Amino acid sequence: MTQPTDPARTDLPQLPPPLRVLTWPQYEAAYARLTAAAHRYRLQLPGAAAAEMVTDALSAAGVFPPAPAPEPDTCGALYLPHDPQSQGFEPELLGEWQQCAGEPGHGGRHDNGEFIWDDGMPGAVPARAQAEARP
Ligand SMILES: [Zn+2]
Repeated sequence: MTQPTDPARTDLPQLPPPLRVLTWPQYEAAYARLTAAAHRYRLQLPGAAAAEMVTDALSAAGVFPPAPAPEPDTCGALYLPHDPQSQGFEPELLGEWQQCAGEPGHGGRHDNGEFIWDDGMPGAVPARAQAEARP
């Protein structure tokens, strides 16, 4: 799944308060602060490492990164693992967005081999209509 921004994607998952999802500008500000702090300690962090550190630190406090742009050519439904205790997943998946591995426009539950979810569940973002509208 790509991490680049998708500013047009404004749909957010429902999460139990006080959990929340950051906007892309908020996430990018946190990322910039982390990399600036690392630079002060003369640490050169690969981008993926910095992103994982930001996600892990913020997610531990109940604040999650924004939804990434879904990978094309598969179901665009996304799921945000947000409660490792009640949902029974490994803590390192906290805040790591998941994308359904099904065909675009499929019916029923979404599944990526790691998680199974419904569109109405907390943390779920339904696939957008444009996935089915593509030629
Ligand atoms: Zn799906």
